[in-house]
Amino acid sequence: MKRAVRPSFYRLVHRSKAVYECPICDYRGPFKDKRVTNRPATVRCDSKCPGCTGTERHRMLSLMIEEMFASWNPSTKRILHFAPEPCLQPRLQKLFASYSTADLFMPGVDFKEDIQKMSFADASFDCVIISHVMTSVPDMEASVGELRRILAPGGIAIIAEAFACEATHEYGEQRGDFWREVGLNAFELFGKHFSQVEPFLSDRYDQKFQLNNRIQVNGRPDDDYPKRLRVDNVGYKTIAAVCHV
Ligand SMILES: [Zn+2]
Repeated sequence: MKRAVRPSFYRLVHRSKAVYECPICDYRGPFKDKRVTNRPATVRCDSKCPGCTGTERHRMLSLMIEEMFASWNPSTKRILHFAPEPCLQPRLQKLFASYSTADLFMPGVDFKEDIQKMSFADASFDCVIISHVMTSVPDMEASVGELRRILAPGGIAIIAEAFACEATHEYGEQRGDFWREVGLNAFELFGKHFSQVEPFLSDRYDQKFQLNNRIQVNGRPDDDYPKRLRVDNVGYKTIAAVCHV
């Protein structure tokens, strides 16, 4: 009942805000603003769905799943959902013949795995979905190599990150949870391991789903992002890489 009552209460209290739709839980109404934890002055406006707690990237992934798996029948295929987002799990479980989860630290996953050196045999899966992990592993190149290794011929990896700068900025040390800021040039790294890498951008889908990162710093719109992603006076587009074996 809690899930049913809270979204309608949020909608009522915030009825002056813009109305969007959530492709994950079918909620229709305003989304919540979300503070960026490691940058207190930064807010992601209209980010979080009060129905399923999904944010821009989750809604984007949900739409990608719907689009991609309409033509690539998953009903006989095996998926690994790394660092699994609860709001995406039910749909993936329903679509795929076999659904497994993995992470090094999250409780309740099927496999406790270090992405830089996974215990799975080569070609164990047909699909991997992984979102916002590459910033928090010491060795990104080893991690991408492992994603390729565990995929079977014809397999795909969907890699979502913020990609909010041109070039990856390696910190050379761990800062909080992070080892780097991942840049758009990570697509070149993906291309070293995969035969084809396709960028999926949020303007591919209807804006009623609110898929862009509407960033405000100290109450002002922040659009200092790569040209390809920038949405003037708003923020930046969500982007995910679809990597084919
Ligand atoms: Zn939702």
